[in-house]
Amino acid sequence: MQIADKTVVSIHYTLTNADGETLDSSVGQDPLVYLHGANNIIAGLEAALLGKAVGDSLQVNVEPGDGYGEIRDELVQEVDRSAFQGVDEIDVGMQFMAQTPWGEQPVTVVKVEGDNITLDGNHPLAGQVLNFDVEVVEIRDASAEELDHGHVHGAGGHHH
Ligand code: ZN
Repeated sequence: MQIADKTVVSIHYTLTNADGETLDSSVGQDPLVYLHGANNIIAGLEAALLGKAVGDSLQVNVEPGDGYGEIRDELVQEVDRSAFQGVDEIDVGMQFMAQTPWGEQPVTVVKVEGDNITLDGNHPLAGQVLNFDVEVVEIRDASAEELDHGHVHGAGGHHH
């Protein structure tokens, strides 16, 4: 069986950045399970997995445009401390959910100067070339309900 649209795929992966630092890995944990063809994972990785079989290993380089996007300067904004009602202390590195023109998104505090708080709404991996070491662990057909929902049910997926 090969990976195609409407298959449920289990992979082990290790994600490293251009400096070779490991950012994320499923090794030693449960594999990542996703529905192929449903935008469950980033586009560059999904495209590279098409046609692969169980036991295949691959290395995938994903450019920002096929990953988490380029860094967008307009997502970095300065706001007044009064916007954070009920938050006593605001420190660099804190994350909040914020209403943006692109919907509700996590934003990270990147600078605090008096009452001026600078927020960055870019994905932490935006602008980075990502290297994935991937091994295909399991492939099965998706159920009708999974296709309807656009995600995987059961082990490694949604429970509802
Ligand atoms: Zn569901």
